[in-house]
Amino acid sequence: MDGLPQSLVSDSTTWFQRTLKAPIGCVGVGLHSGQRVSLNFRPAPVDHGIVFRRTDLGVDIPARFDHVVDTRLSTVLGLARSDARIGTVEHVMAALAGCGIDNVVVEVDGPETPILDGSSAPYVFLLDCAGSVEQDAPRSTIEVRRTVRVSDGDAFVELRPGNPGSAGLDMALSIDFAAVAIGRQALSLRLTPDSFRQELARARTFTLAEEIEQMRAAGLAQGGSLDNAVVVDQARVLNPAGLRMPDEFARHKLLDAVGDMALAGAPLHGRFIAHRSGHALNNRLLRALFADASAWREISAAPLAVAAA
Ligand SMILES: [Zn+2]
Repeated sequence: MDGLPQSLVSDSTTWFQRTLKAPIGCVGVGLHSGQRVSLNFRPAPVDHGIVFRRTDLGVDIPARFDHVVDTRLSTVLGLARSDARIGTVEHVMAALAGCGIDNVVVEVDGPETPILDGSSAPYVFLLDCAGSVEQDAPRSTIEVRRTVRVSDGDAFVELRPGNPGSAGLDMALSIDFAAVAIGRQALSLRLTPDSFRQELARARTFTLAEEIEQMRAAGLAQGGSLDNAVVVDQARVLNPAGLRMPDEFARHKLLDAVGDMALAGAPLHGRFIAHRSGHALNNRLLRALFADASAWREISAAPLAVAAA
């Protein structure tokens, strides 16, 4: 293996598609609906991808950017031909992408995934408990070939081509909130199963105290509590135990971005750069990428490594 870039050597286990060894599930409340929901991960065959199944409606919704129907407070998937929706998919998608799971059915018996502790860590724990297995087919990668950028005021998000010879996604994100407890934070990392677990998975979703009443009045955040979200009131974090890490806010935004970018349908190879982005911009970015056939190409991960050797 001499001469191979370290990233390719260490990522050799990622050249093949993976699914779970066994089904596993959990029960929890939906953040916005407040409804008690069961979620089960089930192994799926090669080239199946991630598919959400509303077991109460008998409807399958592929976890792809072009099935995103709402991005106002969470990323919501749906089908044009039916009213079936599945909300708050981003923390589940981030855990699956972070753990390198390509093929799985995510069964849910309600309109939204369980929020659990507001992070991806409980989902990573479940996926680890089930274990994963390599499948008999190479994993495809979406290689970014030209810079694609979308913006809204001073908020922007872009995908750029990656550095030659290195596979994977390098991510950089910054946020800037008026609330003093959040303020300006920035973070960059190379997305790997290790970096996802260590740097992002435990970061919880957050909200501003002043927005909670508005959301409740609109019928949202019915399941929200200090057990599943960080609540910020100007300079104060209202959760008695405080933050899990000082820049938990930026880390959670990057976790959300990992989940939203996973809706590309295959791992991205390139650089992701975001400032004050959210679910809406993240989805617009993928739509812009795939709308420009010269901006990307799908490649098999294995030949990339062979070419580098
Ligand atoms: Zn989130």
